Amino acid sequence: LLTEAVDRQKPGLPPPSFPAPLVGARRPPYDVLVVGAGFAGSVLAERLAADAGKRVLLCDRRPHVGGNAYDHLDEAGILVHRYGPHIFHSNSEAVVAYLSRFTEWRPYEHRVLVALGERLLPMPINRTTINRLYDMDLSSEAEMRAFLISRAETIDPIRTSRDVVVSQVGEELYRLFFEGYTRKQWGLDASQLDKSVAARLPTRETVDDRYFLDRFQAMPLNGYTRLFENMLDHDRIRIELGVDYQDVKSPTIATHTIFTGPIDEYFGHRFGALPYRSLAFRHETLDRRRFQPVAVVNYPDAAVPYTRTTEYKHLTGQVHRKTSISYETPQADGDPYYPIPRPENEALYRRYADLAAECRDVTFAGRLGTYRYYNMDQVVGQALATYRRLTQTVREAAAV
Ligand code: FAD
Ligand code: UDP
Repeated sequence: LLTEAVDRQKPGLPPPSFPAPLVGARRPPYDVLVVGAGFAGSVLAERLAADAGKRVLLCDRRPHVGGNAYDHLDEAGILVHRYGPHIFHSNSEAVVAYLSRFTEWRPYEHRVLVALGERLLPMPINRTTINRLYDMDLSSEAEMRAFLISRAETIDPIRTSRDVVVSQVGEELYRLFFEGYTRKQWGLDASQLDKSVAARLPTRETVDDRYFLDRFQAMPLNGYTRLFENMLDHDRIRIELGVDYQDVKSPTIATHTIFTGPIDEYFGHRFGALPYRSLAFRHETLDRRRFQPVAVVNYPDAAVPYTRTTEYKHLTGQVHRKTSISYETPQADGDPYYPIPRPENEALYRRYADLAAECRDVTFAGRLGTYRYYNMDQVVGQALATYRRLTQTVREAAAV
């Protein structure tokens, strides 16, 4: 799927020492130390233990597995996502087939509404959004296309997220749907962000109001945490939770380390800190069955501090007389949730990636380890590709 991060090995360097040849008589207690039990770390731990027969120590500084995809029953017994709504969607058959070993699925297609004053309109912008907003009756894709062309501004070349949106829908729709939300989400104007951010939500000429168009869209039937527990249920995987890398790292614990935390943290921020965006979540349970008509409502209004509200029962299909929701407010400080895609950050990341390529006994993976704004399926695809590269090296070494 995405091999970019694993192809970053410098040409001319010897292959990484995986596993390193034994030095002296003592064999380390583990072959691999995996740092971080999110999708990146857990997939690699599972493959290394179950497929390559390695002894794996998996640690996470949080008290649970699953990383940001962690879900749990709250006090009312409602399944919620502690770190905000996670909807699985993918076009990769290989990734879906792999994850399907650890979970059954509940079909679910995500729909999002944007609150504009009293109105709730479908997002990404589609024909229904425009018809409702302007009280129009665009009845075909051709009519919608003509409408968009009448609004769109010519921008060449398209570099930033603002360029992407204004060149598709024009200034007014940009201001209504993107400007405020993006400023809140990133603490930056869309003109300061890479085009890839807004390109996640292309405008549609159809009335398809699904948030994602991927071929496979579903939720793990019994939740993400259960999926992780099934994935990690292996004799050769030992899990240490509430344990930071700093607490376990030692030259004698394992021959190889896989690090899925922030790459700049691993290197002691020696070139300066990579910027990440953080989030604060306010979770509430309400004494009513329904709070909002869809799982997620977005709030582009700059006067509203949060970006979105999530009602979890829509995602899980759970039936309960109460309902649990969360408010999501972006912030600068706190746990790193999002790498911030913009050229200067990518340049700084490259310096760390070059350093990483010199380190033969550590491999970086995941959203924080490779500073990539990846969805879950992309992280799984990257982890599977990383595993193939690691074992390929061993096979080649064995053949010599
Ligand atoms: P993480 O899940 O962040 O896991 C990294 C783990 O490493 C963490 O548990 C952390 O505690 C641990 N760690 C870090 N440093 C250390 C250390 N020094 N010592 C020990 N442990 C350490 N993707 C989708 O596909 N669909 C969605 O709907 C979706 N919604 C999202 C909503 C939000 C609010 C966010 C923030 C992300 C969303 N994502 C979504 C993206 C998804 O969360 C990620 O793609 C995926 O979870 C990343 O997995 P990971 O293993 O790379 O990182
Ligand atoms: N976005 C926006 N308005 C919205 C939804 C999204 O401006 O109503 C922009 C915003 O910059 C956001 C980006 O599009 O960060 C990507 O949105 P997505 O929903 O994919 O973000 P995620 O779920 O990863 O937070």
